[in-house]
Amino acid sequence: MTESKIIENYKNYVIPNYTRNPIVLIKGDGVYVWDENGKRYLDLFSGWAVSSLGHCHSNVARAIQNQAATLVHVPNTFYSEPQGLLAKYISENSFNGQCFFCNSGAEANEAAIKLARIHCSSKGKYKIITMEDSFHGRTLATVTATAQPKYHDGFAPLVEGFTYVPFNDLGEVERAIDDKTCGIMLEPIQGEGGINIADKEYLKGLREICDDGEILLILDEVQSGMGRTGKYFAYQHYDIIPDIMTLAKSLGNGTAIGAMESRKEIAKSLVPGSHASTFGGNPLACAASVAVFETIQSENLLENVTKMGNYAFEQLRNIAKELDIIKEVRGIGLMIGIELKIEASETVKKCMEAGLLLNCTHESVIRFMPQLNVKKEHIDEGLDILKNVLKSVN
Ligand SMILES: *Cc1c(COP(=O)(O)O)cnc(C)c1O
Repeated sequence: MTESKIIENYKNYVIPNYTRNPIVLIKGDGVYVWDENGKRYLDLFSGWAVSSLGHCHSNVARAIQNQAATLVHVPNTFYSEPQGLLAKYISENSFNGQCFFCNSGAEANEAAIKLARIHCSSKGKYKIITMEDSFHGRTLATVTATAQPKYHDGFAPLVEGFTYVPFNDLGEVERAIDDKTCGIMLEPIQGEGGINIADKEYLKGLREICDDGEILLILDEVQSGMGRTGKYFAYQHYDIIPDIMTLAKSLGNGTAIGAMESRKEIAKSLVPGSHASTFGGNPLACAASVAVFETIQSENLLENVTKMGNYAFEQLRNIAKELDIIKEVRGIGLMIGIELKIEASETVKKCMEAGLLLNCTHESVIRFMPQLNVKKEHIDEGLDILKNVLKSVN
């Protein structure tokens, strides 16, 4: 099918709720994707950090192929090996909790909100405090948890029971708590909000506030989890553990999967009948995610993230010294934000034309989230393009 025919189908038959680039992507391999015209793009955004092992990693492709030829779907009234194994990997690499599986980040957060509420329902507590500039998803409850007003327009009435406070401000959290508060929910590193990193004292302080007030600490690691920061989960940089954690994005390296992990004492509140997902934990998505965990281990990718993250930082800081247009470079591991002094969408568009995929968020922040197995030469290739574009828009 020609490019114009493909785009025509979207115009006629797909709801226009996305702003799309006029490009049809047809294949991917590692850090690269190709369009219909044979043009190659270096993908250093990994599609919102989804394709974290690169496009079509052979381990993941093989796992999907094998599972697809064996058993694709098992209803959750039965057992299957991949779901249990994946839960074990998540649990053993985090805080020894138990997992519920679903199909997206929003669903994982929705499950976390429901678990927090049902767990605290006997005490009459239901309110959840979330942070300004957060992003938790697009279902009604998760879009309400998301404190950025631009995501709320037109969807009132929103779900009751959410309170917003500024990020990284303990005092504001303390003031917002009342006897109905059951949870505090946040991203340890805000992604859509512009790569904002929680302070060390802040997360520790939140942990203490939660312990004192019998409040659940819910961490949304949908974007920051699965090795992105050089540890399996971003909270592991902080000497705390959450009560509930959510995952999605790179968990299945492109297969649709979300997960919520909870401490065991809390998890038991989700009794049979209280929550469910038809496709949640299906063998196909779980087999892909199992391959992701095993590849992170076998290829030593956490170490690579730390090394390549340091390298990218060094290079970006040098570029920032040279080009006045960069206001700040921040992040942990390979979750990096480059804040410009100008609006960043034009820069990102020009990079794309030059064959480099990045992303603009929070108006002026360029998100740089390469694959966990990225090599120096790819970072150099990408930063060369970015630097030239920055010179041209300056
Ligand atoms: C992307 C994202 C979500 C929502 O995930 P979906 O799979 O799009 O529902 C939730 N939280 C964070 C931090 C995210 O980055």
